[in-house]
Amino acid sequence: MNDLRDLYQELILDHSKKPRNFGPLKGASHQAEGYNPLCGDRYTVYLNLDGERIKDIGFAGSGCAISKASASMMTAAVKGKTTAQVDEIFTHFHKMILGKPGDPVDEPKLGKLAVFSGVCEFPIRVKCASLPWHTLRSGIAGDGKPVSTE
Ligand code: ZN
Repeated sequence: MNDLRDLYQELILDHSKKPRNFGPLKGASHQAEGYNPLCGDRYTVYLNLDGERIKDIGFAGSGCAISKASASMMTAAVKGKTTAQVDEIFTHFHKMILGKPGDPVDEPKLGKLAVFSGVCEFPIRVKCASLPWHTLRSGIAGDGKPVSTE
């Protein structure tokens, strides 16, 4: 598991130890639950939507360092964004983590989320990194269905 050390970059470690926007959001207008049975990651994403804009976001739950850092960095990346912008960021993020090692990363579009580019080398971690995003999108859609990566 030596290669995992490269994956757990400083930023990922920092976010997994001190997750941002952590804890249930009071007065959330939308929320969704997500579960990754492969790893045991389980999170709830809380949203306060103002029309199409994410006014506030929080998450709660537990899981591995990758899933927690991904949820933390996701909440920081999408706060204040419109749902259309969230879709765009997610599209780039998803393409990156499902890509091949060495594929070019769209850093201007992804910002700090680009640190997850190493995840594509670890297929089992792809679901950890994508779970918070699938959960967020379910929350925005408001269908109330729990998300499972299986
Ligand atoms: Zn995980």
